[in-house]
Amino acid sequence: MTVKTRFAPSPTGFLHVGGARTALYSWLHARHQQGEFVLRIEDTDVERSTQEAIDAILEGMSWLGLNWDEGPYYQTQRFDRYNALIDKLVAEDKAYKCYCSRERLDGLREQQMAAGEKPRYDGHCRDSNATHDASEPCVIRFKNPLTGSVVFDDHVRGRIDIANRELDDLIIRRTDGAPTYNFCVVVDDWDMEITHVVRGEDHINNTPRQINIYHALGAPVPEFAHVSMILGDDGAKLSKRHGAVSVMQYRDDGYLPQALLNYLVRLGWSHGDQEIFTLEEMINLFSLDGISKSASAFNTDKLLWLNQHYLKTLPAEEVASHLQWHMTDQGIDSSQGPALASIVTLYADRCHTLKEMAEQSRYLFTEVTGFDEAAAKKHLRPVAAEPLALVRTKLAALNDWDDTSIQEQINAAATELELGMGKVGMPLRVAVTGAGQSPAINGVIALLGKEQTLARIDLALAFIAERAQA
Ligand code: GLU
Repeated sequence: MTVKTRFAPSPTGFLHVGGARTALYSWLHARHQQGEFVLRIEDTDVERSTQEAIDAILEGMSWLGLNWDEGPYYQTQRFDRYNALIDKLVAEDKAYKCYCSRERLDGLREQQMAAGEKPRYDGHCRDSNATHDASEPCVIRFKNPLTGSVVFDDHVRGRIDIANRELDDLIIRRTDGAPTYNFCVVVDDWDMEITHVVRGEDHINNTPRQINIYHALGAPVPEFAHVSMILGDDGAKLSKRHGAVSVMQYRDDGYLPQALLNYLVRLGWSHGDQEIFTLEEMINLFSLDGISKSASAFNTDKLLWLNQHYLKTLPAEEVASHLQWHMTDQGIDSSQGPALASIVTLYADRCHTLKEMAEQSRYLFTEVTGFDEAAAKKHLRPVAAEPLALVRTKLAALNDWDDTSIQEQINAAATELELGMGKVGMPLRVAVTGAGQSPAINGVIALLGKEQTLARIDLALAFIAERAQA
């Protein structure tokens, strides 16, 4: 049988890292098994579901590269199907109309609480013979078995055994005619031929109830894997207060999707001590049984480390396409100037994020209009005028504009003036970049081009002259 998994988010907010990890595990299982992956939007809660959230989820999935083979399906488009099955269950005496008033249910609840019992529906209408007017509002409840237990082997949590007497008769259709979440999920997973349900552990209490519904419908029961929570580095449930939670915020903060995927796969799943996984390796090695049962703590330093790893090791052209996004985001026009792939090569060692990379390389695409004050004070002094002027002359005469030839000219100027490299290199760096820190200056100059380099040295020389007069 073809393995089929799904990701079934409720569109009530953005795609958060917990959801993304669940989606990734589900997707990896499908890919590992050469199966199929379905995307289903669980929008039955029409009050809280928004188009904006749907778009954000689709955007997050696409950015991560978690492609789906079917869908997105929308539960709101399937109400007829759910309702037809609910009617069938009623006709088969596997579900029933319940007319209990809010007051009765509230009273029951209070009584049970006072007696120290778990609040649950008492089955009042289950076997009632009372007659009701067709117009009288009612809900439909599922007839949960009264005896026995539901047993299933969760891929993460092991064997789970819940006595049916713990479960009450669940509402499967509300008074307003809307089918409820637990029912829709079962029908969808059945209709979509889902073989493995991978979802958050917050749903584990729903699973025994859902298994009973599968049985009532005569549907095959899928396998389950309930994935634990993600905690912040302080041990509390991951929330906004820990920084980024939305997947797209990670893009905005300068992470590569590959780094986030690698980070998420390791957060709660392991394969020996291996930390770095290409997508291909993840697919080849992933197994649901390798998912850890304990909650995992988010560690931003590790994510930063992985991000830099990918900045350094992915093909520069590929990283460049992500860097382009950040250039635009920061209002830097990179259509003129060095190729972004060469920026990646020059900066990957110095940056942990693409956001930093764009910030730090901004000067290569914009005019230098001034110099960092502290750097200028230290390095653009009258003594720097001579070495700068000599480097300028040498560079102006240079035909082969490459790293090595440029470095040779800088060395030659230092030798000629009997100066240490710093006395030439630092003024040159401040002149060309506007600041006291940059990657190797010959590399920067190579990227910047002759015209810009000479113009910037001239600006620095003018600055020194002006300063000397002041
Ligand atoms: N829609 C549910 C949620 O977003 C997931 C349900 C499921 O995976 O079965 O939490």
